[in-house]
Amino acid sequence: MKENNGPILELRGVSKYYGSTSALHDINLQVENGEFLTLLGPSGCGKTTILRIFSGFETPTKGEVLLNGKVINDIVPEKRKLNTVFQNYALFPHMSVHDNVAFGLRMQKRPADEIKTRVQEALRMVHLENYAQRMPGQLSGGQQQRVAIARAVVNNPMVLLLDEPFSALDFKLRKQMQFEIKHLQRQLGITFIFVTHDQEEAFAMSDRVVVMNEGYIEQIGSPQEIYEEPENLFVARFVGEINILEGVILEVQENNAYLADVGGVTFPLRTRRNFAVDEKVLVLLRPEDLKIYHPHDEDLEGPHLYGRINESVYKGATVDLTITLDNGQRIQAAEFFNEDDADINYNIGERVAVSWVAGWEVVLDNAGE
Ligand code: ADP
Ligand code: MG
Repeated sequence: MKENNGPILELRGVSKYYGSTSALHDINLQVENGEFLTLLGPSGCGKTTILRIFSGFETPTKGEVLLNGKVINDIVPEKRKLNTVFQNYALFPHMSVHDNVAFGLRMQKRPADEIKTRVQEALRMVHLENYAQRMPGQLSGGQQQRVAIARAVVNNPMVLLLDEPFSALDFKLRKQMQFEIKHLQRQLGITFIFVTHDQEEAFAMSDRVVVMNEGYIEQIGSPQEIYEEPENLFVARFVGEINILEGVILEVQENNAYLADVGGVTFPLRTRRNFAVDEKVLVLLRPEDLKIYHPHDEDLEGPHLYGRINESVYKGATVDLTITLDNGQRIQAAEFFNEDDADINYNIGERVAVSWVAGWEVVLDNAGE
C-alpha cells in the first residue's frame, strides 16, 4: 500500500437526494487512517447513506468521494478495497460457514489453498475456527454476526464499514461484540467506520464520533469532547441526560469569564464562546455536574439555587435525584457515593441547595448554538 499521511477516506461537499428527499447536505468528512470512527445519530439522519457512498453502492448527487487522496466517484464497489458488514447479516442460508466466508475469494478465482488459509485465518479472528462446517441456521445470532464479519475481513479491506451490526443482538451479547470488534480493529490495524444510533455503543468503541442529524454533521470529536463540550443543544441532548438553565449575562470579565443571572442568583460562568452583557444564554449541566447540599450544610458556599427533592432513586454507584427548583423547573442530579460525602440520602419533599462544579457548565446562546 502506498504511503499516505492524509485521510484514507474523505467526503468533500457531498449532498445526496433520493428523488426530492434530501438525505445529506454538503457533508465534509475526513476519516484518518487506522481510526475507529462512528457515525452516530437518530434513525433517518443519513448514516447508512454515507456508508453506501463510501462503499460505492450509492453515488453522491453533488460532491466528491476520495480514497487515499484520489477521487473515486466513478470507481465500482468491487475495486474500492472497502468491505461492509450489514445490519442484517445477509448470510447464504444454504452454504456452510466456510463457504459463506470463502464466497468472495472464489468469485475472484483465488487458488484453493490460498482460500483455505485465508478463510481459516478469518474464522480464527472471530473465534469460529471450530464452526467452519456448520450451516448459518445452526448458529446463534452472535455467531452469525461473526461470520458476517469474517466474510468482510477475509478480503483484506483497507476500511471496514459496519452498519448497525449489533442491532439484532440482546444487551449482553451486544456488549461482548462491542469488545470483540474493538479488539479486532486493534489487531487488524485498519480503519473501521461504524454506524449506530446508540450513544453508549458509540462512546465505548470509538476514537472519534460524528454526531449527525437530518443530513447534517452536528459535531465531530472524541467521545469526551462530544459529551463534555457539546457544540449545540441537539448534541448535548442526544448523548445523555442534561439540565438546561436559562441565564442572562450580567458582566463580561477577562479570559472568557462571565457573571450571569441564573434563576435570580449570580453565578460565575466560563466558556469558549463570546457573549455580551444582557445576552440570554443557556447553561447546560450534566446530572453528575450538580452538587446537592442540605441547606444547613457547612460546606455550602458560593452561589446556589434552592429546590425540593421530588424523587430519589438508589442506583448503586449513585443516587439519582429529581429536584424541583423554586422557579418550578425540574432538574436531574446524580450524586456519587464517596467516603467523605456519606450523607446523600434525601427525603422526598426535603429542601436542598443546588450548585455545580464551577467551570463544568457548557454555555450556549439562546438558540442553543
Ligand atoms: P440512517 O441510516 O441514519 O437511518 P439513511 O441514510 O438510511 O438514514 O436515510 C436518510 C434519509 O434518506 C431518510 O430520510 C431515508 O428515508 C431516505 N432514504 C434512504 N434510502 C432511500 C432510498 N433508497 N430511496 C428514498 N429515500 C431513501
Ligand atoms: Mg441506517
